[in-house]
Amino acid sequence: MQKVFINSLFFLMLTSLAILQSHAQVGPNLGGTTRALNQAIDAMERGDYQKANEQFRQIIQSNVPIPPEMPYLFAETLFHLGQYDNSQNFLNKYLDLNGFKGDHYKEAKDLQAKLQPKIEEIKSCQLCDRKGYRLVDCSTCNGSTHIEQDCRVCRGNGIVGCSRCAGKGLVTKKNVFNIVEYYDCERCDGNGRLTCIRCDGDKIEYGECQACQGAGTTASEVLCDHQDQLDLSEKRTSFRMPFSHP
Ligand SMILES: [Zn+2]
Ligand SMILES: [Zn+2]
Ligand SMILES: [Zn+2]
Ligand SMILES: [Zn+2]
Repeated sequence: MQKVFINSLFFLMLTSLAILQSHAQVGPNLGGTTRALNQAIDAMERGDYQKANEQFRQIIQSNVPIPPEMPYLFAETLFHLGQYDNSQNFLNKYLDLNGFKGDHYKEAKDLQAKLQPKIEEIKSCQLCDRKGYRLVDCSTCNGSTHIEQDCRVCRGNGIVGCSRCAGKGLVTKKNVFNIVEYYDCERCDGNGRLTCIRCDGDKIEYGECQACQGAGTTASEVLCDHQDQLDLSEKRTSFRMPFSHP
């Protein structure tokens, strides 16, 4: 299996080179792309998927046309790094672009099958977001979902400008002689300002935490193993998965 994989990579390397050479007039960076792609493939063969990941990202960021087989190779790399959601995105892209004509069509279908249960695990896990990253308590509300915060309507001022007089306190009217006369604004009694109706002038409101949109959690940069951890606080026990008990 491993040998077949390496052989097919070797074949790919040659075909990619051919493809890149045929587009050589597109831009001067293509030589760099070939080099980066070859380095990525070398890294994959060594099992250094972290290095391969860096190389692929460099190619994407360099804004040159992406070699047609690259989305598959990147998907394979991301699979090994446990970034299943992203792996699926690139795999779908590969299949969309190349269909069954892609050099890695069979491997792509195999990878699709291997991804399926991983994606299902993420979906059914309460401990990670939909991309598989571990959720942690929101640092703004400490996981409580609601907090006292600056009133959003008055931005913590307690007062808002009167909209009828545009904050001037005065409104104008023309009299019968067509002369402009000034009157105190009735709505704000000539003050130009009104007490904020949301916070009633308290400047703060108790409401859904803005940082986490009331979820109480935010995604970390750690990939989730879908296992509850013993060091998590008591309230997390309600999320414990039935099969995670020894
Ligand atoms: Zn007014
Ligand atoms: Zn307010
Ligand atoms: Zn929050
Ligand atoms: Zn999880």
